[in-house]
Amino acid sequence: MAATSPLMNTYAQQPIVFTHGDGAWLFDSQGRRYLDCLSGIAVNTLGHNHPTLVAALREQIGKVIHVSNLFTHPLRDQLARLLLERSGMTNVFFCNSGLEANEAAIKIARKYGHDRGVALPEIVVYEKSFHGRSLATLSATGNEKVQKGFEPLVEGFVRVSLNDAEGIQRVAANRPNVVAVFAEAIQGEGGIQPARAEYLRELRRLCDEKQWLLMIDEVQCGMGRTGKWFAHQWAGVLPDVMPLAKGLGSGVPIGAVVAHGVAAEVFQPGNHGTTFGGNPLAMRAGIATIEAMEAEHLLGNAAQVGGFIIDQIRSHFAGNPGVAEVRGQGLMIGIELDRSCGDLVTLALEAGLVLNVTADRVVRLLPPLILSREQAQLLLDRLIPLIEARLGRP
Ligand SMILES: *Cc1c(COP(=O)(O)O)cnc(C)c1O
Repeated sequence: MAATSPLMNTYAQQPIVFTHGDGAWLFDSQGRRYLDCLSGIAVNTLGHNHPTLVAALREQIGKVIHVSNLFTHPLRDQLARLLLERSGMTNVFFCNSGLEANEAAIKIARKYGHDRGVALPEIVVYEKSFHGRSLATLSATGNEKVQKGFEPLVEGFVRVSLNDAEGIQRVAANRPNVVAVFAEAIQGEGGIQPARAEYLRELRRLCDEKQWLLMIDEVQCGMGRTGKWFAHQWAGVLPDVMPLAKGLGSGVPIGAVVAHGVAAEVFQPGNHGTTFGGNPLAMRAGIATIEAMEAEHLLGNAAQVGGFIIDQIRSHFAGNPGVAEVRGQGLMIGIELDRSCGDLVTLALEAGLVLNVTADRVVRLLPPLILSREQAQLLLDRLIPLIEARLGRP
């Protein structure tokens, strides 16, 4: 493979070329049509070829694509304000990807510690978490496969298991250098594992008590995917730091770190930077995404259509021990089987469905937030027989 491909051998890729898309549909070079239930891994919020997004991007490309952070640009302030109004937080730093947003969050936590006299600050992270592929973010990630071969890992992380209030109480009692907790509101790569609302509230309480920063990685679960702007809002908590990326630009690369209060004031001139981050094209994509989400009531749609899919799958497989659990919220859905099911990805493609399997046995659905009820029914009509057939084999 390495001998014939000019690409590094980082992904086992499907031999399908998607030439164009329209709404929740993708079309390949053979003229076949697929219902997109992956959105390029939670990226294409508005689906494909969305009219107002395309028009905004076309117009912006004709004006200016990039100016650098050496100059102000009103689109940067505009997108920042849209994010702040929806999150209740105070300041934003723009970057280009999820790992960059998380890297910035880790730097904020460390400098926050140093500013308070903690020379070797530690950050609490989680088993089964995923935060990215840079050295710091893979060290924070709770998956040995992601880390293997890249040791020495970045130090300063303390790992606990999700939804275990006693575990983090022990950390609070024994680790005086902890300065922050870093959690996904719903773990994505780890198999759609939600942090329970009571657990997030307990984290907020503990962070207030210990003066730790509560940092919630919303790179995958944020931007309306669960039916609220940000998944932690279901628990009614406010984080100090919130990294975003994936769905924020509906396909255009973008990342952001949104911060609140003291965490928003940690970075001073010279502490952090980026060449591409905050460029007008990406900002325009973020603004057009949020405006279209609002105009088309996509939060409500994600909640309703996602709830419908979850209910249908639960009731269809009720009492079937082959389906261990159906988890998630809105259009972030994991169907955990009692066995490995990676082969379902190819079988689904053959059935005209783009989906993903994560954590070996979890079918992951991340459709665009424009998915209609009828398209959700089509998804169920195509997916349920595939799962049934899979459960009929060892
Ligand atoms: C995808 C993901 C990342 C990494 O984002 P990249 O843009 O691939 O760097 C980080 N955190 C979470 C929760 C993710 O799902």
